[in-house]
Amino acid sequence: MKHIDEYRDEKVISGMASTISRRKAAKPLKFMHVCGTHENAIARFGLRALLPEWIRIIAGPGCPVCICPTEDIDLASQIALEKKAAIVTFGDMMKVPATDGSLFDVKSSGGKIHVVYSPSDAVSMARENPYEEICFFGVGFETTAAPVAAAILSRPPDNFSMISSHRIIPPALELLLNRDDVAIDGFILPGHVTTVMGYSEYEDFPKKYGKGVAIAGFEPADVLLAILNLVEQVIEKDYKVFNCYRRSVTREGNRLAREAIQNVFEISDSRWRGIGIIKNSGLKLRTEFQKYDAVKKFQLRKEKESIDLNPGCLCHLIMIGKIEPPECPMFGKRCTPEFPYGPCMVSSEGTCRLHHGL
Ligand code: SF4
Repeated sequence: MKHIDEYRDEKVISGMASTISRRKAAKPLKFMHVCGTHENAIARFGLRALLPEWIRIIAGPGCPVCICPTEDIDLASQIALEKKAAIVTFGDMMKVPATDGSLFDVKSSGGKIHVVYSPSDAVSMARENPYEEICFFGVGFETTAAPVAAAILSRPPDNFSMISSHRIIPPALELLLNRDDVAIDGFILPGHVTTVMGYSEYEDFPKKYGKGVAIAGFEPADVLLAILNLVEQVIEKDYKVFNCYRRSVTREGNRLAREAIQNVFEISDSRWRGIGIIKNSGLKLRTEFQKYDAVKKFQLRKEKESIDLNPGCLCHLIMIGKIEPPECPMFGKRCTPEFPYGPCMVSSEGTCRLHHGL
């Protein structure tokens, strides 16, 4: 298949769904994807309804906005309100609840918050406003970390700084694989992250954990192909990393993007909202780029404990795939896309937001 229409062709889709249904696994299967864009595609094209009832597809911690810890949003708010610097970030971050309110609330209180589409826009803003402090609040996984690294390598001016709230996927998968209460039969890996990083770093998973891994693109046929492949891996008990997105992903990934990330960032233990600290799962600026570290530049100190989850919010269970959104008592009542009570209701990649309606 070459063109996007072919990946959405109804005959192709229903044929693939029938093939999956005809396969016979010895037990019900639960596959997890770790990507908000996959959840978006699954919801938009109604893929769950096409699958037999013995297959469940659950969403893992794949929405970058949802897993961004409150302490990082609190730092951004502190910079905007106390240090009078401009916080520059992606639009999805605006409504995410934090300890004393969202960045939208900070803006309403007079803090300077700007929305950009790319980190290079933030660098341009710093160049164009030399007398203003511009602080980029960077969130996201490996895919977003690559352009942020490129922006840092462009040597921004001294009035530029950043909060790095970037996370990497493999340690989160290992954490989930070590939890008996989640019991996943295989992972659908995000096509964009593996386009950047390649899939070599997942090759230990099948041997070590006896679980299948399939890399998928974002069209309905891509996702169904990954599900079919995972079902076959379970039936054959032959676990491997299978690349179902060959038109974009290679084993080695994008060498230049990987090098940029490695040159600018080093691995750190990092908090995932509602999940806690995951060892070696974050990216912090290397020593040679410390002058861009906003926490150091503004000598920020934590004044009080950050609150990741509002009372009653079950986002932590949503993010590890333990419950579905309607199981949260807040869903659609106190928590809606207009007035999100928890982070999973904010972004168009958030599981609760997608269940609520696109
Ligand atoms: S419905 Fe709202 S509060 Fe409940 S888990 Fe989802 S985002 Fe969190």
